[in-house]
Amino acid sequence: MKTILSLNNVHKHFGSIHAIRGLTLDVPSGQILGLLGPNGAGKTTSIRIITGVLPPSRGNASIEGLDTIDHSIQVRKKIGYLPESAPLYREMRVVDYLRYRAALYSLRGRVRTDAVNRAIDLCRLREARSRVIGELSKGYRQRVGLAAALLHDPPLLILDEPTSGLDPAQVAETRKLIRDLAGRRSMILVSHVLPEVEKTCDRIVILARGKIRADGTTHDLLAGASGSPRFLIEARAPDAQAFRGALVTVPDAQMVDIISEEPSGWRRALVSFSSGAADPRPLLAEVCARSNWPLRELRAETASLEELYIRLVERADGEEAAA
Ligand code: ATP
Repeated sequence: MKTILSLNNVHKHFGSIHAIRGLTLDVPSGQILGLLGPNGAGKTTSIRIITGVLPPSRGNASIEGLDTIDHSIQVRKKIGYLPESAPLYREMRVVDYLRYRAALYSLRGRVRTDAVNRAIDLCRLREARSRVIGELSKGYRQRVGLAAALLHDPPLLILDEPTSGLDPAQVAETRKLIRDLAGRRSMILVSHVLPEVEKTCDRIVILARGKIRADGTTHDLLAGASGSPRFLIEARAPDAQAFRGALVTVPDAQMVDIISEEPSGWRRALVSFSSGAADPRPLLAEVCARSNWPLRELRAETASLEELYIRLVERADGEEAAA
């Protein structure tokens, strides 16, 4: 598959601050990459290097094979960027604003009209095309920003917190729109909102203290992160002690945590097993059946992206403190 963005051992120093520390990353066409990281991780600096606004101190970045510094003008034509609050002229009508923005990309005449109409269609703005931007809802204004970023049909689209400040219905709509827009172009979605990235992106990169701490599909990251497999079991057992005592007899069980109890006797436990153990669910069910404890729930418990994110960020902070 064609590589759209390539970062090769990129470093960035601001005086004594080593903000980016050896970033290497290839983004193929059609991929939606979520860039996650806490404040100060280096997300904005990375985006500024990708867009050619900042030169790397070491290493290089290229878009479709063109170096972002040596070919900065051509590179900028290959990127659409939607900042967190899109800089819109609120008193202008949608269509006039898009025509104006298209002119800034040197689009003229028929080409400009076609580009504006295409962006309006792609971003589902037909009914709003003659409305004044300042009178639109935030969700619609965001779509206008997105349309403006797409006018020159760039192969790489960078979206910074695209759903910040939107209501849940607008978030769902924007998420769908982003997925529909992916197609043959690549996207980088910078966000703090983990469920958003999880639902929208094909690939997730977690950045902390200037380094990539995780890179993979959500599924692979969580599979690799879960460590020892855990199972949640809920049954009606006479007392917690007996419940725990029975569960711990299952072969390879390492730890039993009672996580909730109801006065009616329903108790939930999380049982951890050594990795590589055979699926213990039949044995967990059997333990309850043997004691005549009714079973209400039994399932594998996967780690969440949030747990993984917190663990990686804390580890990066720990390394920094030790250094
Ligand atoms: P946030 O989520 O808060 O926007 P971020 O992940 O985008 O954070 P960056 O803005 O890239 O992080 O900052 C990374 C590091 O580089 C920080 O320590 C920041 O203080 C530093 N930094 C960024 N820009 C400059 C600059 N122009 N001059 C000096 N230091 C800078």
